[in-house]
Amino acid sequence: MNRFELARAHSVAEARDLAAEKPGSVLKAGGIDLLDHLKEHLVEPPRVVDIKAMPGLDQIRADADGTLHIGPLATLSKVAADVAVRKTHAALAEACGEAASPQIRNVATIGGNVLQRPRCWYYRLESYRCLKKGGDVCYAIGGENRYHVIFGGGPSYAPHPSNAAVALVALDASLVLDGPKGARTVKAGDFFALPSKDPQRENQLAPGEILVEIQVPPASNARSTFDSVRERAAFDWPLVSNAAAIRVEAGLVKEARIVLGAVAPIPWRVPRAEQALVGKAIDDASAQAAARAAIVGATPLSDNGYKVSLVQTLLRRTLLSLA
Ligand SMILES: Cc1cc2nc3c(=O)[nH]c(=O)nc-3n(C[C@H](O)[C@H](O)[C@H](O)COP(=O)(O)OP(=O)(O)OC[C@H]3O[C@@H](n4cnc5c(N)ncnc54)[C@H](O)[C@@H]3O)c2cc1C
Repeated sequence: MNRFELARAHSVAEARDLAAEKPGSVLKAGGIDLLDHLKEHLVEPPRVVDIKAMPGLDQIRADADGTLHIGPLATLSKVAADVAVRKTHAALAEACGEAASPQIRNVATIGGNVLQRPRCWYYRLESYRCLKKGGDVCYAIGGENRYHVIFGGGPSYAPHPSNAAVALVALDASLVLDGPKGARTVKAGDFFALPSKDPQRENQLAPGEILVEIQVPPASNARSTFDSVRERAAFDWPLVSNAAAIRVEAGLVKEARIVLGAVAPIPWRVPRAEQALVGKAIDDASAQAAARAAIVGATPLSDNGYKVSLVQTLLRRTLLSLA
């Protein structure tokens, strides 16, 4: 790890100024993902701006109408345990509660979780100058690609890693970003970007912008859940995950939002699966139909065809658990 200066910010404006003062500076929230980057020389900043202690940005509150306002510095543990989140937006509590390990969840923030970089082993190793690091090859094609994407790949094939992001897209959340040009609010579903746009970026956070709030609209009688399949029960990222938010009236699905994780470079919404459910009761037949619809368009690489059947099994399980 190269030497860098550590500066502590006490407000969003101070964090922005401290970062702008030394070009190439990076922000640190919990530091879990950042530390990996520093150790592997994937970033070599002159200054690390520690935002973890900025006051007020770790709070979670619910408006009278049920809208959730979540500070980006709330830890994954805090979101997972929050009574309001668990009661109305279970998918988010479950997504945060299933990530990583208890120790990591006590330190990692929800903002850092959403903004963490992909886990692709070629990207993470200093010695591979892949597309994501300004090179011109994605080593996953023709390489070790069992953990890579089956949807939306090209020119790079690294999967999106964040549990929380998958739930936030399913819950139609918005991200409030504060930058040199002022604040703006972006739907989580529009925030993440495919590599076809720019393989070096996974989202549309602009230089100097800081995520300052996550807003989740009222659940409006929708039930939601998150589930994943992992090789290990803890200390691991999902092979496949999904989040579903479903509103049922008089026994029939009125509205469904279904999002897959770890199978595409962004949280992957599956509108065909959603349409397969609307107007139906959730039962084995409709869950199977939605699961079949979810894999339309999947294009597995040489070693990750297993993810196609995993998506179907997981989605059926998730939907039946909501029934
Ligand atoms: C063994 C292990 C297993 C894991 N398993 C999972 C898993 O199953 N699911 C999962 O989702 N994750 C998993 N993770 C990832 C972990 O949850 C994330 O690394 C962590 O949530 C990042 O949060 P942080 O606060 O530490 O972010 P940091 O490392 O501090 O920051 C991450 C990135 O976001 C930027 N950033 C942070 N906050 C802001 C902000 N407010 N505004 C602008 N930029 C910001 C930083 O500059 C940095 O680039 C795992 C990690 C490990 C080590």
